[in-house]
Amino acid sequence: MVLPDRPAEELIREGAESLGIPVGPGELGQYAAYVRELLDWNQRMNLTAVTDAREIAVKHILDSLTCFLAVSAGKGVRVLDIGTGAGFPGMVLKIHAPETPLTLLDSTRKKLDFLEHLAKALGLSGVETLHARAEDAGRDRRYRERFDLVTARAVAELRVLLELCLPFVRVGGLFLAMKGPRGDEEVGPAKRALSLLGGEIERVIPFSLPFGAGERRLILVRKRRPTPAAYPRKAGTPSRAPL
Ligand code: SAH
Repeated sequence: MVLPDRPAEELIREGAESLGIPVGPGELGQYAAYVRELLDWNQRMNLTAVTDAREIAVKHILDSLTCFLAVSAGKGVRVLDIGTGAGFPGMVLKIHAPETPLTLLDSTRKKLDFLEHLAKALGLSGVETLHARAEDAGRDRRYRERFDLVTARAVAELRVLLELCLPFVRVGGLFLAMKGPRGDEEVGPAKRALSLLGGEIERVIPFSLPFGAGERRLILVRKRRPTPAAYPRKAGTPSRAPL
């Protein structure tokens, strides 16, 4: 993939426009600051393998923005991003829809340190970090079935992800899995997990990222029934013995 030789900010503006998710100048400035902070912190800790500003702009920021092809966010929508890493897609969703109450969950403390710093640097309020394994937090009454929308990108294959994520979704709410070109192939093997955990595939949205940056699949799951108390199983089991 060869990206056009234009500033990262310009790529985000153009790319978002072509996806039908226009972003304003203030928001663009926040993304530019995000890219700068990420590059800066990445020199001291491993937050992302992508180290070029324009690649971060397209592969992380634009890619995360595409969640708005599937869902909307805002004031009344409590969002949880699981395995958020350096904040993708959660932090981008927050920048685009700043009224959204957002929780960022990761099992690595230093990634959350970065995100807390970033939220302050960007002047974002209503961002909470949660340092936990998803399997543990998913059994905690404070978090279980408390979210309207749960997101995850690049965390695990779909049937594993469903066990990590669906317990947090309120009945009637949504889980969005952001996947690569072969994401649809994970749907078949996830049938059993869906029925055990109370989810139903609502839509699979295929699209291409701008600038030839690759194909993607958004898998949108609706929670229809409460997740039985047996799930999630203890930390490590979902990936070791997928449903
Ligand atoms: N979503 C980000 C990061 C993906 S890397 C992105 O798309 O760029 C996967 C992240 O998930 C890592 O930060 C890892 O610490 C976290 N993670 C993996 N399994 C987890 C679990 N069971 N509970 C909580 N976090 C987990």
